[in-house]
Amino acid sequence: MYDAIVVGGRCAGAATALLLARQGHRVLVVDRSSFPSDVISTHFLWPHGMSYLNRWGLLDQVTAVTPTHTVVDIVNDGIPLSGSVPVSLLREHFRDLHGDDSGVVQSYASVRRRVLDQILVEAAAKAGAEVRTHSTVRELIISDGRVVGVRGRASDGGEFEERARIVVGADGRNSFVARTLGLPRFDERPRCTFAYWSYWSGFDPGRGQIHRRGRLGCAVVPTNFGQNMVLVWGPSEWSREFRADVPGNVQRALDFVSPELGELVRTRGTREERIYGTLDQSGFLRQLHGPGWVLVGDAESAKDQCTAIGMTHAFRDAELASAALHRWLAGESSLDEAMAAYEGRRRSQNSAAYYDYVCTLSEMRPYRHDELQLFVALRGNQEETDRFIATHADIAPVSEFFQASNLFLLNDAAKESSAGYPVFEDFAATSRMYQQNLFA
Ligand SMILES: Cc1cc2nc3c(=O)[nH]c(=O)nc-3n(C[C@H](O)[C@H](O)[C@H](O)COP(=O)(O)OP(=O)(O)OC[C@H]3O[C@@H](n4cnc5c(N)ncnc54)[C@H](O)[C@@H]3O)c2cc1C
Repeated sequence: MYDAIVVGGRCAGAATALLLARQGHRVLVVDRSSFPSDVISTHFLWPHGMSYLNRWGLLDQVTAVTPTHTVVDIVNDGIPLSGSVPVSLLREHFRDLHGDDSGVVQSYASVRRRVLDQILVEAAAKAGAEVRTHSTVRELIISDGRVVGVRGRASDGGEFEERARIVVGADGRNSFVARTLGLPRFDERPRCTFAYWSYWSGFDPGRGQIHRRGRLGCAVVPTNFGQNMVLVWGPSEWSREFRADVPGNVQRALDFVSPELGELVRTRGTREERIYGTLDQSGFLRQLHGPGWVLVGDAESAKDQCTAIGMTHAFRDAELASAALHRWLAGESSLDEAMAAYEGRRRSQNSAAYYDYVCTLSEMRPYRHDELQLFVALRGNQEETDRFIATHADIAPVSEFFQASNLFLLNDAAKESSAGYPVFEDFAATSRMYQQNLFA
């Protein structure tokens, strides 16, 4: 009998298992994958994601093989902004969410999942969790309406059956645990982005760059093995036409969104792997917990990739859920109290506002004139630029940055200085051009 069985052993699952095992609890992790391996993800970690790794003593292993930076470039319709997430906001974020701000770092990185997930799963095993890879959970054992264990197939083909006081569903957006329990998706947002990416060597972009133009986006971030992850994304309505010629349209999108990046990739880049892609990224939420079970990571809340937040949120869930479960397992609270505490942190007003922010952004409508003016105004204001980046990354509350008084103030300044950016020259014509599918 285990204290916890964790289904899924990546960002959410391995981290939850690691934290529970370090508190002395008996934990089993089951994952159908074998490690090291990749998963569909462009694996960018914002500074709070890196901070979680630091809090858990794993950051050095990651940074030993992964380039890190603190300044990120964000270019919207030709309006460039550069900045970093302020340490003060990071500290506030951790104190609000976890009650302490230890381990905060300001750097970000793009860590291949074959690197990161291996580090996490090894750390869980080292902490004492039993890790069974290449093993698939195929059934939940339910007794008197309560989940009490799992049955599945092991790597050698044999069947296994294990029981635990709690089963943690950390099995991703198509969660077997959630589907078996019949949990509906709620607040589902079907409009999302398509995303295609691969790995190029041969050039140095310096640091991470995120570009938007019209309804398309692209990004380049240095990653492991001396390569750069290059990503393009756009509205799902355009995906059918995009798929007709993926390599050609990746280059076409880069040339349209950032001609400089397009040229760098075309003239200097060598693609080292095939192009990966995904179309199914609709956002949704699920019930967080019930009798004998709790969900963490994408299993509970999946979001579009457009703000690169899912892994960091999986870490957040792991820390919140394991802290709550520890209190219950240690006899300091009832399970109901522990789960209510977890739910209270997860279902805050800020988290609802950020979910809405991501889902709205993933519709990929072109920026409005006033939104672009706001970006122009930010150029003269480093403090607000940094706060904008922190807001985009779910470190500062969305409601604070986008509150009316802030926007009016910034827009007043922007009216003075918008001239000189081509996007404003014939805005109506540009807006019409942006609505046309580039790949049709
Ligand atoms: C295109 C794309 C780009 C993204 N880019 C970023 C990014 O840049 N930054 C970021 O932070 N996030 C990004 N994300 C989101 C991020 O990948 C996810 O949020 C993250 O992987 C969630 O982690 P998880 O541990 O909850 O689930 P997963 O990483 O999906 O892991 C779930 C695990 O459960 C296992 N499993 C499933 N079912 C079973 C079963 N029945 N038995 C045993 N094991 C099972 C699977 O094998 C898998 O290993 C991106 C997502 C997509 C689609």
